[in-house]
Amino acid sequence: MEHEYDYLIVGGGMAADAAAKAIRAADATAGIGIVGAEAEAPYERPPLSKALWKGDKSLGSIDLGTAASGARLHLGRRVEALDRAARRVRDARGDSYRYRRLLLATGAMPRRLPLADDDRVIHFRTVDDYRRLRAHAVAGAHVAVIGGGFIGSELAASLAGVGCRVTMLFPARSIGSGRYPDGLATFLDDYFRARGVELLAGVKVVEGRTDDTGVELVLSDGRSLRVAAAVAGLGVTPNTALAAQAGLAVDDGVVVDAQLRSSDPNIWAAGDLANFFSPSLGRRLRVEHENAAVEMGGHAGRAMAGAGGEFTTLPYFYSDLFDLGYEAVGLLDARLQPVEDWSEPHRKGVVYYLDGGRVRGVLLWNVWGQVEAARTLIAQEGPFDAASLRGRIAHGD
Ligand SMILES: Cc1cc2nc3c(=O)[nH]c(=O)nc-3n(C[C@H](O)[C@H](O)[C@H](O)COP(=O)(O)OP(=O)(O)OC[C@H]3O[C@@H](n4cnc5c(N)ncnc54)[C@H](O)[C@@H]3O)c2cc1C
Repeated sequence: MEHEYDYLIVGGGMAADAAAKAIRAADATAGIGIVGAEAEAPYERPPLSKALWKGDKSLGSIDLGTAASGARLHLGRRVEALDRAARRVRDARGDSYRYRRLLLATGAMPRRLPLADDDRVIHFRTVDDYRRLRAHAVAGAHVAVIGGGFIGSELAASLAGVGCRVTMLFPARSIGSGRYPDGLATFLDDYFRARGVELLAGVKVVEGRTDDTGVELVLSDGRSLRVAAAVAGLGVTPNTALAAQAGLAVDDGVVVDAQLRSSDPNIWAAGDLANFFSPSLGRRLRVEHENAAVEMGGHAGRAMAGAGGEFTTLPYFYSDLFDLGYEAVGLLDARLQPVEDWSEPHRKGVVYYLDGGRVRGVLLWNVWGQVEAARTLIAQEGPFDAASLRGRIAHGD
């Protein structure tokens, strides 16, 4: 079967939703199609590792309501081929979709453990992964969380919060190492341990086996660990296969210009997939966060409908860990010079990441409402030093 759309969006995630709504706002009558590999209509991904576990949100409430934009959703369909000359894509079931303008919003996929995904080994990304993990996450069940980054640490906190026995393992020295200053990373390790999470630092999973009752993990230090389920948060890689196969410029994501347009004038890219230039950081960036997906999706949608300017937003992101929470802007890289400004050590404060007199990143740790102030600071030329930064962003009450 062949479908035809003015605007076609490949990928049915958060960027796709924002784009469809923006296109509709700019063009009341255009035909908009979304082809998404997941069976669900676009939904909010962040609650999968946080709010759904705390009961702050229900599964029914994370739907983004994309259908209200009038976009037609083709769900459970993975696009396998893109023919740029014919302006047509084809899905795995053989249906094809012609377009006038195309948005690639295929997001990213989880990095994999050296063992197959199954009912008890979950590379966590989708609502389906949430359902599978939830089925094993009964009180007292022993669950291994592999990875000490954003997803791993959020899941460890959430699983502990529902009464699971959690062992977290990661190759680095501590949770969030490489991102936070040493003192904050050490504080976080202690904070997790105090809430019953066992930490195995400096190890990797080298192999594993699943049977009817659990998973046996073999670790790089020779130990083995038997758990009811293992969930991995090892970072993601952008889903660039389609773009690369079609000959678009790809370099850690689909390379886009200031309008978020790819190397093909009829094709845009947004969200986790897109590699864009950030004027305030003066470098290219690919951001795997909600705010980027929503802002870029909206911007690309407007641009496709002929109403785009330059995309200059520096995305922010946020996370929740037990009762800690933060927002952050720019680069959180502990190799830069972190300048810590705590009003309550490791509980409330701001960390500035300095690079040769310029601020490249700002971590707002339990400090709220200051994302714009952080963006403004990062856009400034400086020069800044530790003394001039302390106290610059207020911590609030
Ligand atoms: C558990 C979890 C928690 C998170 N928490 C936070 C947070 O607290 N804060 C924050 O800022 N960010 C968070 N993020 C990141 C945020 O959710 C992502 O940055 C955002 O979802 C990216 O949106 P996207 O539309 O670019 O990609 P995705 O949401 O990945 O959507 C892409 C969609 O495209 C589909 N697709 C891929 N290839 C094809 C194809 N060939 N054909 C058709 N469809 C295809 C995929 O199946 C997927 O449904 C979290 C992510 C996860 C997984």
